[in-house]
Amino acid sequence: KNNFLSNAINISNNIINQKVKEGMIVVDATVGNGNDTLKLAQKVGESGKVYGFDIQKLAIDNTTDLLNKNRFYNRVSLIHDSHANISNYIRDKIDFAIFNLGYLPKGDHSIITKPDSTIEAIKSILSFLHINGILIVVSYYGHKGGIKEKNEIENYLTILNQKKFTVLKMNFLNQINNPPIIFCIEKIS
Ligand code: SAM
Repeated sequence: KNNFLSNAINISNNIINQKVKEGMIVVDATVGNGNDTLKLAQKVGESGKVYGFDIQKLAIDNTTDLLNKNRFYNRVSLIHDSHANISNYIRDKIDFAIFNLGYLPKGDHSIITKPDSTIEAIKSILSFLHINGILIVVSYYGHKGGIKEKNEIENYLTILNQKKFTVLKMNFLNQINNPPIIFCIEKIS
């Protein structure tokens, strides 16, 4: 499944590869097992910074191990708190952010992202984004409560001012089993 468009991970990686450069300040709002955090840490290099959030200690621990193994821990701040509280931790403008919604793979499937905190976090991140900065929200919605979260995010993103943001929705039309929806937001002014 390594085709250019075949899944949400490939698509978000393609965007990260295009947009995330040495020295940037970026956010992984849902670190989980740390795959995106690792990718981002690699791209921002020694002079960049990744802020990673998760409410589960297991996710923070798994990601710490992955970063240490790859010797990238020094450029990452992992924060064991909800992404809704992001403004307590970040003062700088940011260049890029990503959310992977839903539950921790191989973890407790009942601990999931929730519409109110997700939207609160999206709002904060949009206010911190540089012009030309990008936010990606990958919405996995096959689980209980997932459709409600997806719909609330979509409603919120739909009313963003088009003079300030370009908002894109990517949808796998011919895949079975609730393939994720990818929302992409670019700040344009
Ligand atoms: N990208 C991750 C990876 O590579 O493994 C997967 C992320 S997983 C789909 C979603 C994560 O969001 C879970 O680890 C969950 O604990 C976390 N989460 C749920 N609610 C959260 C919140 N309010 N703030 C931060 N993280 C949250």
